[in-house]
Amino acid sequence: MVDPFGYIRGFAVTFKKLFEERLTLEYRGGNAKPGKPDEKREKAVRLHGRHVLNRYEDGMEKCIGCELCAGVCPAKCIYVRGADNDPADPTSPGERFGYVYQINYLRCIHCDLCVEACPTQAITESKLFEFSFTNRSDAIYTKNELLVDDDGMPQQMPWEDWRDGEDEHISGWMRATSPSGDHRYEGVVAWSGELGHGVRSPEAGQSRSEDESPSDTATAEVEQ
Ligand code: SF4
Ligand code: SF4
Repeated sequence: MVDPFGYIRGFAVTFKKLFEERLTLEYRGGNAKPGKPDEKREKAVRLHGRHVLNRYEDGMEKCIGCELCAGVCPAKCIYVRGADNDPADPTSPGERFGYVYQINYLRCIHCDLCVEACPTQAITESKLFEFSFTNRSDAIYTKNELLVDDDGMPQQMPWEDWRDGEDEHISGWMRATSPSGDHRYEGVVAWSGELGHGVRSPEAGQSRSEDESPSDTATAEVEQ
């Protein structure tokens, strides 16, 4: 049976909602106009955003061109070609470096499996997700675009909306709370230092308890 007061009840719900606490933020991205709100919700610590290719503290590139990231990528959006380092002027430590590196962001699902697979913490993800392109070539990021700059910071493309803090978690130290599933490594920094950030401290939750600091004990156990 048709409810003759259905419309009125519907409008009553709408009217009531006008005075309740708002759960959404008015956000206009990087195009906020003067006087208009530009609120941004805080991002999760482990949010997976646009990748970067990292360098060691001495400026050497971390990528060794092993192609493990490309092999594990479920979306098949990474293309890597390795090449031999010039012994007189190496690009990365060791024999090989990433000569060609591309990520196709029309296909990437930001699963982070490439980050997990990388043996040198070369590829990691920032928290930036606000980037939109108007042509296919911009969507395929090249090594020159992914590689951090001379200060170790992500390069900022004209179509990307970087804000403070979005580059904070680009390094490998946040990949897992217990590296390799070995509890003895909880709270132990097992990652290499990186240009611009040095060696990071363990993040909250990596220690076995809140009052047990990154662990002298764990370090001692690991060294045994
Ligand atoms: S985040 Fe996932 S989908 Fe994107 S490049 Fe890495 S492995 Fe591929
Ligand atoms: S980013 Fe890491 S996994 Fe991918 S080719 Fe370079 S070293 Fe290998």
